[in-house]
Amino acid sequence: MLGWLRRTRAGESMKVPLLDLKAQYESIRPEVEQAIQRVIGSQAFTLGPEVEALEKALAAYCQCRYAIGVSSGTDALLCSLMALEIGPGDEVIVPTFTFFATAGVVARLGAKPVFVDIEADTYNIDPAGVESAVTERTKAIIPVHLFGQCADMDAVLAIAQSRSIHVIEDAAQAIGAEYKGRRAGGMGRLGCLSFYPTKNLGGFGDGGMIVTNDADLAARCRSLRMHGFRADEPYYHDWVGGCFRLDALQAAVLRVKFDHLEAWTQARQRNARRYDELLAPLPVAGPVVRPGNRMVYNLYVVRVPERDRVRAAVTAAGIGTNIYYPLSLHLQPCFAHLGHKPGEFPVAERATQEVLALPVYPELTAAQQQHVVKVLTEAVSE
Ligand SMILES: *Cc1c(COP(=O)(O)O)cnc(C)c1O
Repeated sequence: MLGWLRRTRAGESMKVPLLDLKAQYESIRPEVEQAIQRVIGSQAFTLGPEVEALEKALAAYCQCRYAIGVSSGTDALLCSLMALEIGPGDEVIVPTFTFFATAGVVARLGAKPVFVDIEADTYNIDPAGVESAVTERTKAIIPVHLFGQCADMDAVLAIAQSRSIHVIEDAAQAIGAEYKGRRAGGMGRLGCLSFYPTKNLGGFGDGGMIVTNDADLAARCRSLRMHGFRADEPYYHDWVGGCFRLDALQAAVLRVKFDHLEAWTQARQRNARRYDELLAPLPVAGPVVRPGNRMVYNLYVVRVPERDRVRAAVTAAGIGTNIYYPLSLHLQPCFAHLGHKPGEFPVAERATQEVLALPVYPELTAAQQQHVVKVLTEAVSE
């Protein structure tokens, strides 16, 4: 009787965070601390050999010739658009269901973000929507590989190539993801990665990277991250750039973590498979992975009926979840001047009402997942 009570109490009090970065840190602490000490000892804090080594590793990992370390995923996108000289009068096609940065960088350069709806199963940009959004002003398309699964790149690239439109991949959530054997970031003219702490390869702060196979664009991005310095003549500027440098401390930490990335990705995939099975009897729809895609599960997102009520119950039981994303970008107050109306992109708008991200981080245990599903089952059937 007492044993039963104790078990029940322990079960009830089991808390599962959405992400457990402390668990990850504990598994690599000595390596990380050594790397940090190495940078402190060098007193060389921006760019330099740590950043160059990380760039080399990530270029190879993304199947690209060049990689340029920058200050964030947002700045990777911004710098990419600047390298392509996108500005006032230009239009850039983006999904309306993504993290704000994808569209924010377009607006910051004075160009117009042109929103497109998503596909209901993958949450990625709908190629049919892209096709009908193209105008003679369209300079670029930014497909986002949302939650860790690549967008329909054959379709996007076909639309772009027939009209000389640039494709910039927003691979912030998709490092290591594959589309028909090709790595995320390496399919467009430029690919953008984020090292924000919650991403699959997360630093101890902000960081990002641009990957590309284009030597001229690589050189331009390299210059732009340093105020547009000439490569061989500092303090001479052919372009107006910014301060988009990556810190050596971040690069050193990321180099350590990079060696574990594949194992962590596989652990995320194992956890996703477990959820797929455990959630099958529930009236929730899990992620759909298209044939030919290798999904890296930065987020494991389900569609839940009565999402807000269910989330409140799950939160009260100590389970960490989040909503990516609660409001489509076309309905954000800052884009009101673009004149969009509710109902314009119904697939995205419906997703904002139904999606819920569950914990899927690599260190998550089977017992924790069973507990998450048990709590979710109770919440859904209330
Ligand atoms: C995280 C993220 C970004 C921005 O990356 P930061 O490093 O946070 O600036 C851009 N796009 C998407 C889809 C993201 O998830």
